[in-house]
Formats: sequence, C-alpha cells, structure tokens
Amino acid sequence: MNVIDAVVDRDSYAGLETTSGQSVGRPADFFERVSCYLCGATETHPFVTAQDDFGGTPGDFKFVRCTRCDLAYQNPRVSLRHVAGYYDDTYIAHRKKRNWGLLTPLFERAMNKLDTAKDRIVSRYVSLGPSSQVLDVGCAVGSFLERLRRTTGARVCGVDFKDLSAAPSLAQVEFHCGLFYEADLAPDRFDLVTMWHFLEHDYDPLRSLETARRVLKPEGRLVIEVPRLDSRTFRWFGNRWPGLQAPQHTVLFDRDTLLRAVRKSGLEVVDYLPYGAFPAYFYLFTGAAFRLLKGRGLNLDKAIFPYFLGQILLLPLLLFERRLNLAMQTVICRRAQ
Ligand SMILES: [Zn+2]
Repeated sequence: MNVIDAVVDRDSYAGLETTSGQSVGRPADFFERVSCYLCGATETHPFVTAQDDFGGTPGDFKFVRCTRCDLAYQNPRVSLRHVAGYYDDTYIAHRKKRNWGLLTPLFERAMNKLDTAKDRIVSRYVSLGPSSQVLDVGCAVGSFLERLRRTTGARVCGVDFKDLSAAPSLAQVEFHCGLFYEADLAPDRFDLVTMWHFLEHDYDPLRSLETARRVLKPEGRLVIEVPRLDSRTFRWFGNRWPGLQAPQHTVLFDRDTLLRAVRKSGLEVVDYLPYGAFPAYFYLFTGAAFRLLKGRGLNLDKAIFPYFLGQILLLPLLLFERRLNLAMQTVICRRAQ
C-alpha cells in the first residue's frame, strides 16, 4: 500500500469544486445527450459508470450500450467546449516534460520505444520513401511523424485538437490545429494515415473515418489503434479499466464494433491485430493503481518509479503480450473497392 499511497496526489484536483466528493457548479451545457455513433439509435441500456481516474477530478461519467447495435459510448457526454479543460498541460499524451530526475533516460527510452513500435507496425503494410505523404490524426507533439520524416524522408502532416505547434518535434511537420473532419486536406493525398488512440476520443468517429477514406490514396493504408473493450484488462478492472479514460473517451470499441465502424465508412479491412504499439503493461499498472486509488487521481511523478519496477517484474508475462488479448487492438484498412 505504501507504494500506492505515494502515488496519490491530493493536490491534483482541478477544475470543479467539490463538496464531500460531489461535483457542484457544473454549467447547464456541461453534458449533452448523444445518439449512437454507429447506427443513430437513441435507445440504450446502462453499461458502466466511470470516474476520472487519471486526473482525479470529481464526478461520475456514464457509458451506455446501444440497444440496437451494442456500441458502448459515453452518454451523456461532456460537451466539446467543456472537454477541452480535460486536455490541459497535465494530460499524459500532451506532456512535454523531459525532466524526470534519475529516471529521465528510462522515460525517454519508453517514449522512443512507443514510436519504434508504431513504426514496426506501419512498415509491415506500407513502404515509405521521400515521395510518400503521411498523416497522423491526433498527432500530439508529433514525435512519431518526426521519426518517420527523419528515417524515410516522407512528407509528414499532423492534426490535433490542441495547438501544440510550439513543440520542437513539430517544427518540420505540416500541422493543422482543429477537428480532423474540418481540416483543409486535399483528397487522394496520403499513402498512410494513422490514428493512434484517437478514434475513442472522437465526437464523430464515422465522419473521421470517412474523412480518412477521402484523403487516402486509392492504394493507401489507414492504421487505427484503440483500446479493446473485449480484452482481459477490462474483465479484470471493470469500472476502473484505464481504457474507459473518462471523460475523454467518448466511445469504447470491441473488435466487432470497430470492424463494423470501418466497414460502414467505406473502408475494407486488410488486417486486424489483437495488440497495438501502446504497451498493454500501462493498462495493467494503471488499472491496478486505479482500483486502489478509487478516483483520487494518478500522480505521474510519483508513479514513474513503481511503473518501471513493475514492468521488470511482469516481463515474463509481457513477452506473450501479443497472444494474450490484454488491452489494445489495431486495424489496418484501405479504401473499399
Ligand atoms: Zn447503435
């Protein structure tokens, strides 16, 4: 318990005021009801109630299942104008922090390893060169794009909801700030479009998939990685499953609903992987921590040492990550013929 207590950061509460754990003072337009992203139906049944386990802000967030097509999604969801506050500078994917004390080399190695893992997956399906064009949707600080540009010479382009254009890693990237389906991108342009943990945050996932289809070259490939709802870690952690990531995650895909979403958007499936570039270990560690913390929020500065220690201890299990359906899924698509 000492390790976990050390991870709690009681000062990390932000945004909403609390009265004995209850949120107060939310504006009337904080939540909005939404119909099913996949079939448009409005009939649902309750699925799981989650909390902001990463950030520790108070409040409950409800996920439902569509009665007609079984898609799991957040309903009501936090409206677009209010969700921005949950992507502040402490948001994990947007952190620019490079100083983790003695653990800095380990942290940088982990970040490089993630980009290496993404590179390994995409290079099985596309071969990139100086004449290639790549788009990363939800590119954050753009380190994956910068890596591809450096290693292949490809022209790289990124879109993100948040303006991170000041990040040095985006200096050589054509960066578009805003919603993907509103970005000014020419049709038939890209050899490769990637969505690494983007689609589960999307406020209109089918429209984004259709946009990806439109900007892909006829022989281009779209690579999508999202958390996998029908995975072991969801069964283990339930309402504390890190893949719920409330309230940032709007939609929770299992294998079936993910494949139906891409097909419905005019794409055909080239391959499906029961793992991703993102380490399943992250979900094992944070899921266990969230069960103990019960919504109090994760302090990354304090978690980083137990994180790396746990990774060493679980190494024998993690060697079989690709066969165990632990947490992630990746689908590789092309334009339907
Ligand atoms: Zn539905």
